Amino acid sequence: MTNNLNIICPCGNSPQNTALLYQNCCGRLHTNSQKADSPEQLMRSRYTGFVLKLYDYLIATHHPKYLLGLTASTLAQSPETHWLSLEIISVSNTGLHGQVEFQAWYKDEAGINAIHELSDFKCVDGEWLYTQGEQFDAIFPKRNQACLCGSGKKFKQCCL
Ligand SMILES: [Zn+2]
Ligand SMILES: [Zn+2]
Repeated sequence: MTNNLNIICPCGNSPQNTALLYQNCCGRLHTNSQKADSPEQLMRSRYTGFVLKLYDYLIATHHPKYLLGLTASTLAQSPETHWLSLEIISVSNTGLHGQVEFQAWYKDEAGINAIHELSDFKCVDGEWLYTQGEQFDAIFPKRNQACLCGSGKKFKQCCL
């Protein structure tokens, strides 16, 4: 994945099974040439922001009332994470409020795990912002299901 980081968007957005290039996906939000038009798009751009360590972007898209002291420098001090993939489980959007349930897969010394979260988003002056989320245990694929890393192989033949 490291070699493709500048080409294929880390968020894995693949409409019609065609992976989007970073510059045509989350990159447009990171460079401010486009605003997120849905909670899912903002969620994807924030995941990619974590992968690419765009801490200022993560703070700018986090509702200020919910930051609770979080800053770009505290984010930068968090331990190095090797992100594997983003799995969107469900989305809802009422226009002013939205939710995205996702699993953000990563690998560390302990092995593979995911942040499984139901995130809340608010639309403030036409701009989607992350507010807060509720976290759950990761749900792993079954042995014969597609691997969480997006390789297209079965889980048992890949990252398991
Ligand atoms: Zn993307
Ligand atoms: Zn895999």
